Amino acid sequence: MKTQSNRAWFLALLCFTTFSARSQNASPVRDLVKSHVDQEYPNLFELYKNFHSHPELSFHEEKTSARLADELKRAGFEVTTGVGGYGVVAVLKNGSGPIVLVRSDLDALPVKEQTGLPYASTVTTKDDAGTEVPVMHACGHDVHITSLIGVARVLAQLKEHWGGTLVLIGQPAEERGGGARRMLADGLFTRFPRPDVCLALHDDAEIPAGTVAYTSGFAQANVDFLDITIHGVGGHGAYPHKTKDPVVLAAQVILELQTIVSREIRPGEPAVVTVGSIHGGTKHNIIPDEVLLQLTVRSYTDEVRKQILDAINRIVRGQALAAGIPEDRLPEVKLSDDFTPAEYNNPELTEKLAGAFKSWFGDANVIKKKPTMGGEDFSEYGRTENKIPICMFTVGGVKPEDVKESDRTGKPLPSLHSSLWAPLPEPTIKTAITAMSAAVLELMGKQ
Ligand code: ZN
Repeated sequence: MKTQSNRAWFLALLCFTTFSARSQNASPVRDLVKSHVDQEYPNLFELYKNFHSHPELSFHEEKTSARLADELKRAGFEVTTGVGGYGVVAVLKNGSGPIVLVRSDLDALPVKEQTGLPYASTVTTKDDAGTEVPVMHACGHDVHITSLIGVARVLAQLKEHWGGTLVLIGQPAEERGGGARRMLADGLFTRFPRPDVCLALHDDAEIPAGTVAYTSGFAQANVDFLDITIHGVGGHGAYPHKTKDPVVLAAQVILELQTIVSREIRPGEPAVVTVGSIHGGTKHNIIPDEVLLQLTVRSYTDEVRKQILDAINRIVRGQALAAGIPEDRLPEVKLSDDFTPAEYNNPELTEKLAGAFKSWFGDANVIKKKPTMGGEDFSEYGRTENKIPICMFTVGGVKPEDVKESDRTGKPLPSLHSSLWAPLPEPTIKTAITAMSAAVLELMGKQ
C-alpha cells in the first residue's frame, strides 16, 4: 500500500504531463481515439439500447453489473464482481505510471418512461417497500455504463500511448446514496490499486450534445435528510384550550426554519432548507397528537452544514418550549444516515482536464458551469483519509436545436430524472468516451 506516493504522483502528473498533453497536438493519438470510437460505436449503441430497456433500481443492479463485468473482461481487464454489493472493479496494469480510477454508476429510477423511444423501458418491478413501480434510466446512467465500456475498449487498444494502472468501476446505488460508501467499505482502495486520481462523468440535460462542461471546486452539495416529529397533546377541535396543538406548532416551526438561511447563514454562502413534506391529523375536528415533517438540507462546507443542523435543533426545541409542550413530549429530530457529502472537484486537476478538453473539442465546446445544490456520491472517493483528488465533468446530451429553442422560448427542457429525458445517443456517447479517454491520456499519456 502506498502512503506518500499518491500525493507525489498527483503533483508530478499535474505539471509533468502538461507537456506531454500539449505535445499530443502533433501526435496521432487523438485521431486514433476518434477512429476507435467510430469503430466501436455501432456495437456500443446496441449495448446502450439494451441497458436502456433493462433498467434496474438501486441495490438491484444484478444483470447490469454482470453484463458490465463481462464486457470489461472481454476488453482485457482483470475483473472482480460483488464489491460492496453489485459493484464491479476492473483493473488494467500497463507498466509504471499513475493509477487513475474511472467510475460509472449503474442504477436507474422508479420513473415511468414517456420518451416514446423505440427502445424505451417498459420494465416494472417491486421496490423495497413491495410496491410495483416502473423503472427507467431517467438519469442517463446507461450513458455512463456504455461509455465506461467504450473507454475500456479504446484505451486497451492504445496501450503503447499510456502508462500506469487504469481502474474502471461500476458503482451501484448512486441514486439512493450509499453505493460508493459500500464499495469503499468493501476494500475498493485496499484490495485494489489505490488511485492517485478519481474521474467520473455525468450526462447533462442542459447543454448540447457534443459539448463538455466542468465546475472547479465545489460542484454539488452536502445532502442531508431529516425527519422531525412534533408531538402535541391531542383532543377535540372545539376545545383547543385543553390541548397542545402540534399543527399550529408545526406551522410556526416551518416559518422559523426559513430564517436559518436568510438570517443566520453568512450571505453568499450556499445553503438550502426545504420542508418537503408535512403530515398530521385525520379529521376536521380532531387536534392530533403529532405532526411529521420531512426536510432536506443542502450546503457545501462542513461548517455551514453543522450550523444549519444545530439551528434546526435549536429552533424546533425552542418553538416547542414556547408553545408550552411538556418536557417529556418535546420534538424529535432524526438525521438520516444516508448523508451524501459535497462533491469537490480538485481545482488544479479540473483546470488541467478543462485545458485538455479545449484542445480536443475546441474552446466553443467546453463550458464552465456553476455549481448546483444537487448531490452525487462520487464525492465519497475524495473524502477518505487519503483525500484523493477527484473530478466529475458533464457531457451534453440535448439536441442542439432543442437547446436553442428552449433559450428562445424560455420553455424548460426535460431535466435529469424526468420521464421525458432522452439523451441523444450520438454524439453524446461518442463525446463521453472521447472526453474520458482524453482525460485519462492527459494524466497517463506517454511523451
Ligand atoms: Zn445521475
